[in-house]
Amino acid sequence: MLCDEATVVAQAPSFDAVTRLVEAARTIAVCAHTSADGDALGSELALVELIERRWPEKRVSALLADDDVVPRIYQFLPGAERLVRAVDYREDPDLFVCVDLSQPGRLADARAVLERSGRVAVLDHHPSAEAFWDAGVVRPDAAATGVIVAEYALHLGAELTPTMAQNLLCALVTDTGRFQYQNANGEAFRVASALVDAGASPSEVSLHVYQSDRLSYLHLSATVMGRITTFEQGRIAYSYATMADLEANAVPVAECDGLVDIVRRVDGCEVALFLKEVPGGKVRGNLRAKSDRDISVVAREMGGGGHPAAAGFTVEGDIDRALAVVLPKLRALYATDGEAR
Ligand code: 5GP
Ligand code: MN
Repeated sequence: MLCDEATVVAQAPSFDAVTRLVEAARTIAVCAHTSADGDALGSELALVELIERRWPEKRVSALLADDDVVPRIYQFLPGAERLVRAVDYREDPDLFVCVDLSQPGRLADARAVLERSGRVAVLDHHPSAEAFWDAGVVRPDAAATGVIVAEYALHLGAELTPTMAQNLLCALVTDTGRFQYQNANGEAFRVASALVDAGASPSEVSLHVYQSDRLSYLHLSATVMGRITTFEQGRIAYSYATMADLEANAVPVAECDGLVDIVRRVDGCEVALFLKEVPGGKVRGNLRAKSDRDISVVAREMGGGGHPAAAGFTVEGDIDRALAVVLPKLRALYATDGEAR
């Protein structure tokens, strides 16, 4: 049993509703969120394989929300080569399945596909505002969407193939920060154990995701590390990379996902912020909490969102402008509670 009885019972009707949508559809587009990460891509590819094996007569497409390539470190995922950019997908699918997202704003180019789809299903673990879908499972207590896809496979009585297991293990490993974040609960470990039994390789995931940094990326990391600044008695730490830094080191924006993890390493820091300039005159922010402080509040105030301990946002402008807005909001997290925590 991967999760407790109550969770299984609670999810079953919603999984059945998703199944009914799949059965009623002939063409299905599956898509994860913009700036796809290991959970987004791993969960999407596993779900696509699950649907295709279970319902071979369906025509299933795996979409990328962005007009971009698959991040280098995730190209090893089984099936990654079949991901199609949403801008290149011309059909009006009967069903659109959102994976690892439950806010249409995070679909980027794929939003247009969602809007011309017949029905919508969602499998996600982000806290979401309003349900725009016809059926779905959204469980913020799940460590990764990969957990939910694994449980859907279990619910269907489908075999977990080694390739599905590998995709789902990558989803779990990355969204739990290698089982180190606060979301790494018993369910995450139980599912991971089942995935390894089904043929997933933790060492291969680790090799590609964590031990294949390009030298130029490591040099950029050194710059970011050298800039780490703390305030509020060391409880808040931040750093950043400008467009010039990325260009000087020839590191694509999509490869900078891990830089916030360097910032969070500071001893005593409870909140970590990493900012990077991205094309279009914008700045993308990654926020992480090492304590139980909810930084998704700040991400939402900045127009983004996410989980209490891991959230993000995108704003117009450069690093200085973004810092001028976000740093006071981070300070405000500490302004009211002094002795409260
Ligand atoms: P990251 O900082 O790794 O990009 O994102 C951390 C978490 O926050 C992820 O679960 C991600 O899906 C979510 N997140 C990041 N940026 C946004 C955003 O702009 N809007 C929303 N709603 N969620 C975000
Ligand atoms: Mn996720």
